[in-house]
Amino acid sequence: MRGMTDYNGKNVNWEKRTEFPTQIIQHKYPDRAIIRVVDSCFGHCNYCYLTYRILDRSRKSKTGLGEDIWKNTIRYLRNNPRIKDVLISGGDPLIISNKKLYRILSDLRSVTSIETIRLNTRALTFLPYRFDIELISIFKKFRLTVLEVHFSHPRELTSAVDEVLELFETEGYRPMLLNRCPLLKGVNDSSEILEKLFTGLYSRRISPYYLFHYAPYALGRTHYGLSVRKGCELLLPLRRTIPGPAFPRYCLFHIDGKQDIPLELKSTPKFKYEMNNGTPVIVFKNWKGNWVKYPDLPYEK
Ligand code: SF4
Repeated sequence: MRGMTDYNGKNVNWEKRTEFPTQIIQHKYPDRAIIRVVDSCFGHCNYCYLTYRILDRSRKSKTGLGEDIWKNTIRYLRNNPRIKDVLISGGDPLIISNKKLYRILSDLRSVTSIETIRLNTRALTFLPYRFDIELISIFKKFRLTVLEVHFSHPRELTSAVDEVLELFETEGYRPMLLNRCPLLKGVNDSSEILEKLFTGLYSRRISPYYLFHYAPYALGRTHYGLSVRKGCELLLPLRRTIPGPAFPRYCLFHIDGKQDIPLELKSTPKFKYEMNNGTPVIVFKNWKGNWVKYPDLPYEK
């Protein structure tokens, strides 16, 4: 197929260095950028698509956000007014102090072309007590637009989480909450569990925004990974049994950009299930209009 970009499993985390104008800013899509402010987390998730960077203890940014790097990052954002949406990510940005977060948000808000700011964290499940009054007041002061959270199983919706949600209310500021959930064999690979998770999130006014397919290079894929088609099979029964806003986008990661998965059990004109030397592979047309490959896992009944 002409124009097809081959899967390149050699790229650690599938992060293209050419997409990093400074050491910590990733600029893939024209109108938005990710700032990776730290390379540590409250835990290590086997399925993480940032696995290799998080585990690499030798990276300098583990010691903190260098002043020069940060100034260059803000300068880049100022010089690129097409960037209107910034995602503060890591690692987990809530592992750093409130003082540093204050500085980050304050500097971002000083860039007048930035309209919306998101922050991506797993702290609501790993360490809900991280959300204290001071942190929420920082979110409030700088109008954090979205808090992207991470629940993989309904059991993670604990009373401690509900206390944090209540604290947002009493402090008078609650950013939009969007969930990012990995699909994991043996953890949430059942329609019943996914239904409980999605409706549990929805009833708490957390949008179950993304269900992510396992990244091909991430650790633990043999143990936790599923085929794309299996994921469709698990989601399809929920289409008409849970409210529309409780239904997530099913999505896969790719070095050239994320891709929504059509909920079909068969190929569609732009998303094809194929075999390559006995190995399943997905071939799809991405957001740039290029045909790309994604190495899938065998379908399991
Ligand atoms: S907390 Fe998030 S960034 Fe950190 S290892 Fe887990 S999934 Fe990856």
